[in-house]
Amino acid sequence: MITGPSGVGKGTLIRGLRERVPGLELSVSATTRRPRRGERDGVDYHFLSPERFDELARAGEFVEHAGYSGHRYGTLRRELERRLTRGAGVVLEIEVQGARQVRRAMPEALAVFIAPPSREALRARLVRRGTDDPAEVDERMRTAERELEAQGEFAHVVVNDRLDEATESLAAIVRPALAAVCQHTANLGGPDETD
Ligand code: 5GP
Repeated sequence: MITGPSGVGKGTLIRGLRERVPGLELSVSATTRRPRRGERDGVDYHFLSPERFDELARAGEFVEHAGYSGHRYGTLRRELERRLTRGAGVVLEIEVQGARQVRRAMPEALAVFIAPPSREALRARLVRRGTDDPAEVDERMRTAERELEAQGEFAHVVVNDRLDEATESLAAIVRPALAAVCQHTANLGGPDETD
């Protein structure tokens, strides 16, 4: 899973990661926030009403879910399991509270925290991408302060300063972990299983 504050470039880094490391699929999260211009239901997010989100949460349909900036976000169990049973490597792009829940539920999952080069750079990126009004940017920056304090909890931290370097660092962390999982899966299904 890839975690870190909003605006740090998680989505862009994941796109670059998937170009470099084949066989990785992105889990489509559920959210109660409204779609932004160009976002498609079922592709960027599953856009749900708060009532539907609650219903699914009560039914235990989420691997993790969290409140963020007045909305709710969560990883649907079926999204994750469908991909894992196909043997795909799955990437979750989630905020820190969700990442903690996944870590508890699946301690073997690789977690990478993406950090900005500075607070100022993060604010500048949030403003530049233009998806949030100034009050929302302030709110996201307040949350970012708390999230940045949590980075020490994660074994891997990549600073997203130069995009190509950060993407390469991320790929260098993910590649061997994915190869190890594939090897393990192959061994489980292989002829030497009973040796
Ligand atoms: P945004 O509204 O900018 O799309 O997302 C806000 C924050 O929620 C980002 O940090 C994003 O990574 C995070 N997020 C997206 N999907 C999920 C999810 O399924 N679970 C959790 N916990 N956070 C998510």
